[in-house]
Amino acid sequence: MAPDGTQRARHEAGSNAPGRIAGRHFLQIPGPTNVPDRILRAMDAPTMDHRSPAFARLGRACIEGMKTIFRTEGHVFIYPASGTGAWEAALVNTLSPEDEVLMVETGHFALLWKRLAERLGLKPRFIATDWRVGADAAAAEIEAILAEDRAHDIKAVCVVHNETSTGCTTDIPAIRRAIDAAHHPALFMVDTISSLASIDYRHDEWGVDVTVGGSQKGLMLPPGLSFNAVSEKAMAATAKARLPRSFWSWEEHSGPNATGYFPYTPATNLLYGLEAAIAMLHEEGLANVFARHDRHAEATRRAVRAWGLEVLCREPRNYSSSLTAVLMPDGHSADGLRARIRDAFDMSLGNGLSRLADRVFRIGHLGDFNDLMLVGTLGGIEMGLELAKVPHQKGGVAAAMSYLAATAPS
Ligand SMILES: *Cc1c(COP(=O)(O)O)cnc(C)c1O
Repeated sequence: MAPDGTQRARHEAGSNAPGRIAGRHFLQIPGPTNVPDRILRAMDAPTMDHRSPAFARLGRACIEGMKTIFRTEGHVFIYPASGTGAWEAALVNTLSPEDEVLMVETGHFALLWKRLAERLGLKPRFIATDWRVGADAAAAEIEAILAEDRAHDIKAVCVVHNETSTGCTTDIPAIRRAIDAAHHPALFMVDTISSLASIDYRHDEWGVDVTVGGSQKGLMLPPGLSFNAVSEKAMAATAKARLPRSFWSWEEHSGPNATGYFPYTPATNLLYGLEAAIAMLHEEGLANVFARHDRHAEATRRAVRAWGLEVLCREPRNYSSSLTAVLMPDGHSADGLRARIRDAFDMSLGNGLSRLADRVFRIGHLGDFNDLMLVGTLGGIEMGLELAKVPHQKGGVAAAMSYLAATAPS
């Protein structure tokens, strides 16, 4: 018999457990996240004619709807691609070979975006951090570098809003202020792949030129869609931008997008899901969505502290509301702990990436997620710490429950 969805997800998560295991897999990696049943049902539809009036309605609803999520009245482009594609789109539409871009090494994802820029023929200048703070820790350095760049060789400043490898967010207005204080015309680009629809974000109000988003994290969709939100200043930059582009070209999208169509076959069924996701976010209310994520993140940190473990993010102002990265005690393997938890309790946690490999595990608490899912998640971790013989104190789950109860909606 064909495996059901739960078994398939479990198999793909690498579980060795034989036969059927009851209940749902706990997918607590910081993306892809759990897809709500309503979105699964919305996508469960026959393939549609993407040149039909019915599609134009859907295409327009998604483009206009995403403007309300990015909080922009500018342009939004939707690609049938993972987030990495939208990273590339942001750069190739606005920049030329050899252009300098200023980036901040907040962690693994900042590093990947920088490598992508290098492969495109750009010249990144990379400000280092210790991977335990947001890019705003480098705001003064950004301002100084831009102020020195009197020839305006630096064409863009690129930061990651929520660094998914570390659980540190960046104060985006602080970076905007640094650029403005240096009176520098560089474009401002922000990766919100793991913050959009989880943590407050305002493309227009915060003066961002290109925002990069993806479908599989706060937007609660499967992987496969990514986004650029684009200011008029960034749109104007396309005229002079000489990096080669075709698939990612904003100009190619603009014409058909105006009537709800795309220049090539869009990911039609994912767009059904996106329309549902946007509706769900507004039914809950964006402010409530953000408050829910803040509350779950605080409960998680209280559990981590009660266990006697350390949250990787060092600056409270940079704490991420979509995930928490937890440092392992010296000599103990994060990957060993994650494997033990996966096999015993059928839960996936995020691994440590590049320099953090085996040093941290990451708890995803974003997307379609509620109090009891968090209690289950923390319960699995607390039991796993015991099974893997990681030195810790009991009481993490209890600490989180006390906080959740004290702050429960009345
Ligand atoms: C997940 C993620 C990416 C990569 O997106 P893909 O969909 O895997 O290509 C980039 N940046 C951040 C901050 C992410 O969390």
